[in-house]
Amino acid sequence: MRAFDVIRAWGRILAGQRPSLSIEVTRECPLRCPGCYAYGPNHLGGGTTLRELSDFKGQRLVDGVLDVVNRYRPLHLSLVGGDPLVRYRELETLVPVLIRRGIHVQIVTSAFRALPAAWARTKNLNVAVSIDGLPAENNVRRPPATYERILENIAGQHVTVHCTITGQMMKQDRYLERFLQFWSPRAEIRRIWFSIFTPQEGDDVPEMLTRQERRRVVSELLDLRQRYPKLDMRKGVIEAFNAPPSSPDQCVFAQTTQTISADLRTSIQPCQFGGQPDCASCGCFASMGCAAVANHRLFGWLPIGPIFWASRRFGQASPFRTAVPEPAVEFRILQ
Ligand code: SF4
Ligand code: SF4
Repeated sequence: MRAFDVIRAWGRILAGQRPSLSIEVTRECPLRCPGCYAYGPNHLGGGTTLRELSDFKGQRLVDGVLDVVNRYRPLHLSLVGGDPLVRYRELETLVPVLIRRGIHVQIVTSAFRALPAAWARTKNLNVAVSIDGLPAENNVRRPPATYERILENIAGQHVTVHCTITGQMMKQDRYLERFLQFWSPRAEIRRIWFSIFTPQEGDDVPEMLTRQERRRVVSELLDLRQRYPKLDMRKGVIEAFNAPPSSPDQCVFAQTTQTISADLRTSIQPCQFGGQPDCASCGCFASMGCAAVANHRLFGWLPIGPIFWASRRFGQASPFRTAVPEPAVEFRILQ
């Protein structure tokens, strides 16, 4: 992140706003991944689930997303789902408009279909392709986004590979290194990120890691980052897995990111996972990245965390706090 971006983000926090926005642009996804949080019963707070929510298509979706962006004025925007590539035509229209506005855009997808060719040349766009392990796991967990399809669909692109580490992976030998050995040498891969599976409170599922497995993830990644330059995770980010935020109130990522669901109205709380995420077991890469920034000391002595929390308190209490306006467009539900 450039100094200019940090200053802009700080300005938003002082104004009581969140500099980062995430929009679930569609409720649809052709995959049925075990452990998917987006389709969990409590993702939207209980009652309605994402699959039951009304969403948008075509020009209505384009207008609706731009309206949300106009109201929240983010510096960084993640377009997620469902799988946002279900609405690839709308994204082809939206992405250049958003980039021209100076917004950093991230699209998180399974790459179940081919990425638009123009995205390979688009600056300030990050396409993060979620791949859950080596073919033996991914191809069972994430059809139709199998290795064969992903490789075909990212040809000529420059993407970020994002893998969520599960308990099943950590019960196998050198799994993370074997994953890096497969993806690192490929020209289409710009960098590689790992998250750790984040359960909801009370979950007991095979994707969860034991404490010992989690510690092993940290020590393996600290070693691997020195040998695989495309593993784009700083030491402080990896070490943050050892001490996740104790609650959403203590989570810089949750406090700086607003998540809106596919009806373009529902706010997902307390973070992108929705429901009641088990913060003590959080493995979200973005949350660890924010925690690492907060733990950093400017010039070696000035801690960023206290400055952030003081700025946030100031912004929340400020009489000049900018409220988010109500939706400007009249939405028509198409399905
Ligand atoms: S691709 Fe993502 S949204 Fe779709 S089922 Fe898998 S985890 Fe859920
Ligand atoms: S689950 Fe993770 S990202 Fe969500 S609020 Fe807790 S620590 Fe933050």
